[in-house]
Amino acid sequence: MCGIVGIISDKPVAGEIYDSLIQLQHRGQDAAGIITCNERMHFKTGQGLVRDIFQERHMKRLEGNMGIGHTRYPTSGGKTGNDEVQPFWTSVPNGIAFAHNGNIVNYAELRSDVINNRNRYLNTHSDSEMLMQLFADILQQCLGNNLSSKTPDSTFFNALCFTGSELFNLTQGAASAVSIIKDRGLIAFRDPHGLRPLVMGERTSSDSTAPGRKEYIFASEDTMFYMLGFKRVRDVIPGEIIFISCNGEIHSRVVAQKSFTPCIFEYVYFSRPDAMINNISVYRSRLRMGENLGKKWKREFGELRPDVIIPAPSTSNTMALAMARELGVNYSEGLHKNTFIGRTFIMPDQEQRKQSVRYKLVPQELEIRNKDVMIVDDSIVRGTTSKEIVMMLKEFGAEKIYFTSACSPVVAPCFYGVDIPTSEELIASTQSVDEICTYLGVDLLMYQDIEDLIEAVMRKGDHHIDIPCYACLGGSYVHEE
Ligand code: SF4
Repeated sequence: MCGIVGIISDKPVAGEIYDSLIQLQHRGQDAAGIITCNERMHFKTGQGLVRDIFQERHMKRLEGNMGIGHTRYPTSGGKTGNDEVQPFWTSVPNGIAFAHNGNIVNYAELRSDVINNRNRYLNTHSDSEMLMQLFADILQQCLGNNLSSKTPDSTFFNALCFTGSELFNLTQGAASAVSIIKDRGLIAFRDPHGLRPLVMGERTSSDSTAPGRKEYIFASEDTMFYMLGFKRVRDVIPGEIIFISCNGEIHSRVVAQKSFTPCIFEYVYFSRPDAMINNISVYRSRLRMGENLGKKWKREFGELRPDVIIPAPSTSNTMALAMARELGVNYSEGLHKNTFIGRTFIMPDQEQRKQSVRYKLVPQELEIRNKDVMIVDDSIVRGTTSKEIVMMLKEFGAEKIYFTSACSPVVAPCFYGVDIPTSEELIASTQSVDEICTYLGVDLLMYQDIEDLIEAVMRKGDHHIDIPCYACLGGSYVHEE
């Protein structure tokens, strides 16, 4: 997963793209970049956190009233290479900049097509650069070199729609993307399954010479909209292309439709709780996950009543709160999280992950000693973090430890942009619940049932989801259907 944002405005956008990336930092802490455009493209990319990459001198150089940004979480291509940092850009056929969230499953085949048949140069092994070159090549075939402002917007948009439809036909996998094209405007699109999120917002321009004109933002989450004065309009529809021209006109069309299967992990873990994704509140969905988990506990272990429910912070705070309410048990933040240390799931290196748990979680002895403690975690991926949490609880005098996961067992890798690379790394793919219980050293282990997890996501909200993707939890991969 990564975070993407694109803004088109009547005033310079670099500062607002920076602010947006700060709000999307949780979606990727490996690297980040911004490209803006006026008469030419201006860019700054780097590795690390957004606040460390962009200095005042960089921001001054990022001129232009439209731009895109990206926070990177490494999936395809090199894990740490600076060349892989998005946004990418190409000068052929015009200035095109591109930021992508997702993963293209048939990358190898398309890479060969792009290099050998389309004579395009690829500078990296990133599927996102390949996708941009494919996009640029199809668009060039439609329009020749006429991407300039002389070509009417309607002609340009028809070419864009053809390009999008071809792109969706050729590619398998997940692709939410934002792009800017010099002299033309901002483009946003989402793959026909809508695997990764993309939300649109608008606000009225403060430019007195263009009264009522709209400015637009597209982002992986709507968490920065309020802060920047944008109103949430809607999610980009799966298979839809949206084009905002440089004079602020909006054009949109759905060019491909398949089953709508957004990633369930966005609700379990990735998205910020205050985000509204696919018209479903992430926070409310997590409350429902906790409620469903509590109901299952009552059904299966009703006679066992913990003294305290403690979340494995911080995504699961919401789930643990709802579970505590459901069971009528005290909720306690008995593990304090130092928020200035990165989330372990998105640290690429296993050793780093192991070392970091004790650095970022501090047990509170008064909340733990001589108590039967129930831990609520959002998910158990490799099991290493969970095991360390259990060891800490024992060291701090817990009597009994019950471990619950708001997500069902993670049993298979993700091919759509989430770093769950091999089944061997997933504890639930090789071990039974009893074996994992023994490995963790807990008195009881309980996972959410997949039906209850899906129900928690889909119960409320004016959404059009057919069924969320849960391929890594034992469901089918949509690109194989
Ligand atoms: Fe999300 Fe899992 Fe589907 Fe990947 S396989 S898109 S992580 S639900």
